[in-house]
This record gives sequence, structure tokens and C-alpha cells, in this order.
Amino acid sequence: MALRFYNTLTLQLQPFAPASDNTVRMYTCGPTVYDFAHIGNFRTFVFYDLLRRWLRASGFKLDHVMNITDVDDKIIRNAVAQGKSLAEYSAIYTQAFFDDSKLLRLEIPEHVARATEHIDQMADAIEKLGEKGFTYDTDGSVYYRIANFPEYGKLSHNDFSGMKAGARVDVDEYEKADARDFVLWKAPKANEPFWETKVGPGRPGWHIECSVMAIQYLGDTLDLHGGGIDLVFPHHENEIAQSEALTGKPFARFWVHAEFLTVEGQKMSKSLGNFFTLRDILAKGHPPEAVRYLLASVPYRKSLNFKFSELKTAETSIDRLRNYKLRLETGKFGAGVNEQLVARTAEAVKAFREAMDEDLNTAEALASVFEYIRETNTAMDSGAFLAGNVESATGLLQLFDSVFEVLEVTRASDALSDEQVEEMITKRTQAKKARDFKLADSLRDELTAKGIILEDTKDGVRWKRK
Ligand SMILES: [Zn+2]
Repeated sequence: MALRFYNTLTLQLQPFAPASDNTVRMYTCGPTVYDFAHIGNFRTFVFYDLLRRWLRASGFKLDHVMNITDVDDKIIRNAVAQGKSLAEYSAIYTQAFFDDSKLLRLEIPEHVARATEHIDQMADAIEKLGEKGFTYDTDGSVYYRIANFPEYGKLSHNDFSGMKAGARVDVDEYEKADARDFVLWKAPKANEPFWETKVGPGRPGWHIECSVMAIQYLGDTLDLHGGGIDLVFPHHENEIAQSEALTGKPFARFWVHAEFLTVEGQKMSKSLGNFFTLRDILAKGHPPEAVRYLLASVPYRKSLNFKFSELKTAETSIDRLRNYKLRLETGKFGAGVNEQLVARTAEAVKAFREAMDEDLNTAEALASVFEYIRETNTAMDSGAFLAGNVESATGLLQLFDSVFEVLEVTRASDALSDEQVEEMITKRTQAKKARDFKLADSLRDELTAKGIILEDTKDGVRWKRK
């Protein structure tokens, strides 16, 4: 079975492969850096990460662009209010975004493109759209005339044919099913930062940056464009209108969108008190890999109901995986290979791959791994799991972790290194041999205090991080 994605453009599951040379040219809409990103934003960013990793596990190379929106109404408003320059203000939240991404183990795309570093290219594109008759000017602002793009609505599957021609908006986001001419370039307002360009002084609207940076780095037609479901209209509809008017070619072959996240069954909002940044959640003592696991475990096209109780469940699941890995690494198994278990492992690998191939069905992929772990743990207990089965079982775990990446414990900056832990365990073993139990116990307590858990087994001492 081949890799398939649900394409918002066609409303169908379609086999996916890049158009040429085995490299996936993909664009995903990145953060608007006006504040810390919230857990709903990170659901989408974790989806991008899974997408990257599974495309790579499928044998493709990646050329991925993500934008950083570092100029928009909210950023300008906040920067002005704090007496900071636009660059000073957005730098703080850009860094916060990268710090949070690192904690969630999100890969950095091949190109991270900042809007403010592409202002002249945006002006060029707006000028070209003007030459082709897609724009008009009003009071120093430039608008896109959607009546001249008859395919408008093809992504959101809305029929905008009855809309009022000439109605326009200055804001970047607006009501669904209310298509209006959107702003490409905004005339400067008093006390707001602006750029001098060939289309006059001002600043770009939000939508133009994605079209311009995607085409600049990836070419006229992308293999895949991703975002949160809330971006389908108007943002992605507008990206298509701009890009296809510019190039005369389809902008993206596949459009993929991650569903909403709710918190404890409700839409996240500051007034309901259920609005959480990643920092808020980590401050409650949850490890970042539990957040990653929970966000990854629900298939991206299902809405995700974020519950704190399920973060606990995620931690338990991660513990089971880590314990299994530890058992593979340190267990003493009988000589030989159990061929039946070799076949069982191959079956589990196939089930994992098929689930991920089917539009990244992470829930089923996880189920196949846990079923395998349960069965092989039983086989280990009974002695049926042999030394020759370790390698393939480890291979399955590696395949799993190349996508989910939760096996490694996030360490505090003052955590002991593996070597330091081993050294202390050796000292403790020597102390026990010398019947110096006081020293042995104090070494154990010291390790416990540093989050290292020791387990004395018949095969010797096993340890893990809490
Ligand atoms: Zn975008």
C-alpha cells in the first residue's frame, strides 16, 4: 500500500509522491510571533513534524519552507504599546517559538523565512499582479480583485459567485463565506512602522508573504502545502489566488490541514481560563515529551480534545515504551532465534507502516506497537523470546521513535551524564561487595535525588531516568 494523504483541494484520499526527483517541496504556515504559541498552535506544528518524519521514513528527501510572520496588526500594536521596535519585539517571540519547538523535538525546516526579510520581493509580486490586472489601489493601499480570479473558492469549496464585487477588507482574517477583496499592501498609519518600496510606502498584508516565499524557495508548484484547518479560508484561498494569478500554474498539488484542538471539551479562550501555552503546561510539571506524545497520538484530521488527565496517560505510555527498550538492552535471553517472533515483528512493522501511510493514522500505528510490546513481553516472561530476536524488536522501536521521538528522557541542565551514572553505580556495587551498606545506600539516595531509578535484577543493576 502506498502513502496517501487527504487532499483538501479534491476532498479525497490520494496517493502521494513528489512531482520530480524524489524531493518533496513543501510549505507550511508558521507562527505569527506576537506572543507565546499556545497548545493549539503546537498541535499543528507537531503535525508538520510528523509529516516531515514520515515522508523521510518513506524514502523522500525534503525541501521544506516555513514562514515566520513577524509583521502584522497584533505585533505592531503590541510593539508600539511596549515602546519597542518591530524587530526587537518579534525577536523575543521568535526565539520563544524556537525554544518551545526544541523542547517538543520539532525538526527545523530546511528554510525558515521571515516576512520582514522579503518585503522587496513582495512588492515585486504586487507590482506584477497589478500589471496582470489583479489589483487596484485605494488611499495608498493595494487590494486583490477576486472577481478576476474565477477559481476563487476552490479550496474551501465555497461558491462565491454571488458575492458583491468591490467589497473589501483591511484585516487579514474575516468571517467564513464572506469573500472580499483582500489587502496586499497597507498604506502607512500614523506611528506605525512602514517600508519604502516600489508600490509605495507601507507594509504587506499577511497573505502575500506565503505566496512570495513559497515560490521563491520552492518554485511555482509545490508538492504539498500544510496548515491548520482555520487557514483554509481566507488565508489559503488567498494564497492560491495570488500565486496562480502570478504564475498561471497550480500553486500546490496537495493541501493538508490539521483539525482544531479543544481543551477539556471547550474551545480554548483566555476568558474561559483554559488557554495554555506550552510553558504553562510544563510549569505544571509535565515533561515535554508527554505533550508531544499526546499531540501526536490523535490523527491530525480528528479534532483533539486536550485533557490534563491524558497527559498522565501519555506519561504512562512513554514509560511502558522506555521500560521495554531497557528490557531489550539489558535482559538476558536464551541463545538462538524464535522464527515465529521474527515473523510477528515483521507483521508489526508492516502494520505500523500501513497505518502511517494511510494519511498518518498515528492512533493505529501506536496500537500496533503496543500490541507487539504486550505480546513480546509475555514471550520474554516465558523464555520464548531469544537473543536473536532482540535486533528486529529494536528495529521496530527505532522505526517508531524516528517518527514519535519520545524515548529519550528530557534532561535538566544539571542532570548527570550516562557515564557519571554508570560510575556511581559501579562505586555502589563495590561498596556493597565490601559490605559498606551505608555508602551503598547514600549513593543510591544521591542517584534517586538526581532522578535516576535503580533496579536490582538477577541480571545485575538496571537504571533509568525518572
Ligand atoms: Zn501562509
